[in-house]
Amino acid sequence: MELSANALAVLHARYLLKDERGRVIESPREMFGRIARTIAAVEKRYPNGNAPCWEERFFQLLSTRRFLPNSPTIMNAGKPAGQLAACFVLPVDDSLTGIFETLKNAALILQSGGGTGFSFSRLRPRRDIVRSTGGIASGPVSFMKIYNSATDVIKQGGARRGANMGILRVDHPDIVEFIRIKRTAAELANFNISVAVTDRFMAELAADGTYELVNPRSGAVTGTARAREVFDEIVTSAWETGDPGVIFIDRINRANPTPQLGSFESTNPCGEQPLLPYEACVLGSLNLARYARDGALDYPALGDAVRTAVRFLDNTIDANSYPLPAIEAMHKGNRKIGLGVMGWADLLVLLGLPYNHPAAFALARTAMKFIRDTARQASAALAAERGPFPNFARSIYAAQELPPLRNATVTTIAPTGTLALIADCSSGIEPYFALAYKRLVLDRELTEVNRLFLRFAEERGFASPELLRAIERRGSLRGVRSIPTGVRRLFRTALEIPLEDHIEMQAAFQEYTDNAVSKTINLPHRATREDVARAYRLAYARGCKGVTVFRYGAKKGTLVKFADVD
Ligand code: ADP
Repeated sequence: MELSANALAVLHARYLLKDERGRVIESPREMFGRIARTIAAVEKRYPNGNAPCWEERFFQLLSTRRFLPNSPTIMNAGKPAGQLAACFVLPVDDSLTGIFETLKNAALILQSGGGTGFSFSRLRPRRDIVRSTGGIASGPVSFMKIYNSATDVIKQGGARRGANMGILRVDHPDIVEFIRIKRTAAELANFNISVAVTDRFMAELAADGTYELVNPRSGAVTGTARAREVFDEIVTSAWETGDPGVIFIDRINRANPTPQLGSFESTNPCGEQPLLPYEACVLGSLNLARYARDGALDYPALGDAVRTAVRFLDNTIDANSYPLPAIEAMHKGNRKIGLGVMGWADLLVLLGLPYNHPAAFALARTAMKFIRDTARQASAALAAERGPFPNFARSIYAAQELPPLRNATVTTIAPTGTLALIADCSSGIEPYFALAYKRLVLDRELTEVNRLFLRFAEERGFASPELLRAIERRGSLRGVRSIPTGVRRLFRTALEIPLEDHIEMQAAFQEYTDNAVSKTINLPHRATREDVARAYRLAYARGCKGVTVFRYGAKKGTLVKFADVD
């Protein structure tokens, strides 16, 4: 198995099984075998299941790193009480019991390797009354701080630091305090935060109007806010720190496949997966770089992989040990899976397409439509074999004259933060952030020079030590005059791509993604608040379900450092 030094380092640090003394006790090959065996064993529970056949197919897909499931599956498959899902959402009720019950449940999820999203919108605002004690309420932000501290002390077996999503609706009376929270350094370090923005808010923003702030405890209107002023607060905080993002909560709910079972209030930590309270989802990503053939995307091979991956992810639900019975009931009721892609930037280079070329946006739509349609067919075939998801009759699909589905959703685009390291490909649908950079994985500093660029430069005879030094210094080819313009364009990095094009790519993938798309709109340091505002407005106009911007250097601890990036 040809694993890069980086991939091996990550596997050793976090994924390969260890004994009690912390010694690694399996090889990468054995690791893929363990996953394939565990997930294929589920076949024995179904009539006509063929475990040996599927074990072999799963192993092929995994060991060639054409497809990888989310990290918890890689880490925990085959372990006693192995928890395999990455994404969870828990409700936070407006009572002390509710708040701490959910904190306990979140701790269990965290310990098991998952990440949780919470909406704090049901909590009464700061200074509201507390009837039982005659006291005054401390508000959602104060409880988020407690959740954050708890996350600090619960280490996921040392494998990774915890990640949470915290959401507040834009019409909550404490919204401005929430928006500003991350401007204080080190506050809520274990949270991504997003404002749940309504259609009403976006309409008032366009009309420069006002909207009402509502106390969720009583339903009473506590005041009005000018949409533009709240939006400016969001923009300023995001410009300074990268947080908050926004999620377009009404649009997200219009895509809810099971509205009878509840509404979406939150997504998972990185924003790609809206879920109902107590719902979970297993994700998996296809490495598209492996499907470039003769200058085109190899659809027949990709289709085969999609079908196998859907079966893998559906099996994963049955193989999972859930941290709570309520979560097991929800996940097994809707059987949501999220198949997505990584290696998108690599694929485009292999096809000779710059990231922001119109043909690249068109390919995003064609490829993702193909993946979604094929995944749905695979899910329908599984439904014929194993039955539709138990809540099917109560889903929006029941009224459609289509074959029933085994899974309430089939597609999600995950960030693939560590999966892409294991697969040695570019992350998710992101462009390259840089062509050479250092990355800290746990305590080790890993240096990466883009392998496709190296190969490209060698094949075309312009690789030289000076060129490599220039790239290591700058991180990109901008201003490197010895390189032909076409090549500079092909390897354009995130900060050289206009924000409109980042959003266009996100929108292209969203069109054919059941759940949501993880994408960071990376902006250069010189970007203005108006650029951030434009990104948010455009994401709404283009049909995205949410948006996150990050201005280079806005926050300390940014992974990548160059002397002269803007
Ligand atoms: P990976 O590449 O490790 O599979 P991704 O970067 O694709 O993970 O993230 C997918 C989801 O996994 C996130 O949205 C989140 O729900 C969960 N997740 C990622 N990193 C963490 C973490 N450090 N702690 C808890 N959950 C996480």
